[in-house]
Amino acid sequence: MDLSYFLDSDVRIEKIEWVRLPGERWREIGCNARKGWHGKVYINEVARVTIAGITGFGWSPVNQSQASHWIGTPIKDVFSANGRVNEPFRSMEYPLLDWLGKITNTPVYALITDNRSNKVQVPIYETTLYFDDLHLSNQQEAIKFMQNRAMEGWAIGHRSFKIKVGRGARHMPLLEGVNRDIAIINGIREAVGSSAHIMIDANNSYNLNITKQVLSETAHSKLTFIEEPFYEDPVLLEDLQEWMDLCGIDVLVADGEGLTAAPALVEWAMKGLIDVIQYDIRFYGFNKLLELEDRLKGTNVKQAPHNYGGPFGNYASAHIAPYMKKFTFIEWDEVNIPGVDTSAYQIDEGRVLVPNLPGFGLELDDRYFLKKIQSEGWTIRI
Ligand SMILES: [Mg+2]
Repeated sequence: MDLSYFLDSDVRIEKIEWVRLPGERWREIGCNARKGWHGKVYINEVARVTIAGITGFGWSPVNQSQASHWIGTPIKDVFSANGRVNEPFRSMEYPLLDWLGKITNTPVYALITDNRSNKVQVPIYETTLYFDDLHLSNQQEAIKFMQNRAMEGWAIGHRSFKIKVGRGARHMPLLEGVNRDIAIINGIREAVGSSAHIMIDANNSYNLNITKQVLSETAHSKLTFIEEPFYEDPVLLEDLQEWMDLCGIDVLVADGEGLTAAPALVEWAMKGLIDVIQYDIRFYGFNKLLELEDRLKGTNVKQAPHNYGGPFGNYASAHIAPYMKKFTFIEWDEVNIPGVDTSAYQIDEGRVLVPNLPGFGLELDDRYFLKKIQSEGWTIRI
């Protein structure tokens, strides 16, 4: 059965369940330019929707009052004819897309593209190289420590790495912090070799001159992109792009995560001031990212959706990537969530192999989920 069958039918949303499932990141991570210790624990908001007796689940911030409003809604109001989730229902877009994939026996990437392949692979990068070295006052020891952290990622299959920078913004004296950023970038390049992609992320903590200094002194480390060097400002971004052209430094500028992203960001990207847009895979959302991709058609703008602190975003990004002509990398944030089996996804040589399974290809442990719902969650049914 395909979607058009359901759009013509009287099938309706029967049940919505929601609970927070605890998870644990694969390792402890430290501070970034803005925040303190990030740790290991992560809480995942998961909704499960039942329609025509079939369930779909995924990350969702849906609340009880929205859910009560939506119960009994016919499917033809929820999806558009091309399988996109209509705007009012997007706080539950992941469970709904998973459902659509499961009931039509189709992976989500095949719902949104012509790709029916069972060999979809998407480049990923390891995203947990934080300021884990702050306890070390000796620079050589700090470099060694961070090199080892990068190689732990290498050992589990990563070949691309993003390094948090901006130590001098809050956690270290300014010049000492900038110097340590530079030493660690170059040290990690030495450790991972020339074939790996290395990105840096300053969380808006540099200014234009610090950015230029860091990019000059790491030029031989050949960074792929610099993320959020400073708060988006078209005057400063233009200066940075012109300066890189003059110096022959070829590092992409990436930006767009979070609430402080400039409203004109997409326009600035279309003018060449920003090369990679990083709107968040969850909070900006899957369907809005598809719409953004349609808008970017014919431009040089790339997408690398932001995905930190949300393991579900790993898998969502894997399915949206085949739709994006200039997709760069999935920001891979490995978190183990008891009750959610993600083993159909495999990481190999810097790529994730995406399973050719219905929906998002994840399995929910029914008994565990029900127990959690009964003790800490809620259910709304017709
Ligand atoms: Mg970031």
